[in-house]
Amino acid sequence: MKPVIAVVGRPNVGKSTLFNRMTKSRDAIVADYSGLTRDRHYGDGRLADREYIVVDTGGFEPDSSTGIVKEMAKQTRQAVAEADAVIFVVDLRAGLSAQDHDIARYLRTANKKVFLAANKAEGMSESPLLGELYELGMGAPHPISSAHGQGIRSLLDAVLADF
Ligand code: GDP
Ligand code: MG
Repeated sequence: MKPVIAVVGRPNVGKSTLFNRMTKSRDAIVADYSGLTRDRHYGDGRLADREYIVVDTGGFEPDSSTGIVKEMAKQTRQAVAEADAVIFVVDLRAGLSAQDHDIARYLRTANKKVFLAANKAEGMSESPLLGELYELGMGAPHPISSAHGQGIRSLLDAVLADF
């Protein structure tokens, strides 16, 4: 079976941009994976000869403003539960927020292999914020630029090394 990789993080960090980078086709593959929930955003991806399934999260909020945060959290928990590995995306330009720390705390209890991606890192290789990301307790951050396609291969090499 292909590994299932969940992309999680607070809104606007670049999850969907990363998802688009990681996928070549979307949503057609779910029928073959009886374990996966059907109402999420799946894509099929490949790095050289290694294939994977990637799950985007946070794009399924209901319209009612009261339900948004709760539903996002539920989507994220479900995606993490069915994933083999998790990419936790933070925004290197914005720095860490309380929400990032909340997600990190949750992920530490989830008993999954988590890879920390510091997105929007184009032109930021010297940023002191990269060092601050160690506070999250997720190991070394992988600097990436989803918008510019930088660092994605190296991140995926690390994620796929165990499968
Ligand atoms: P999501 O809410 O986490 O899914 O975030 P999106 O993928 O929708 O991206 C949120 C915003 O960040 C958009 O305006 C993107 O164009 C921008 N963005 C995404 N990746 C990058 C990046 O690598 N660098 C920069 N500078 N902006 C990015
Ligand atoms: Mg999104």
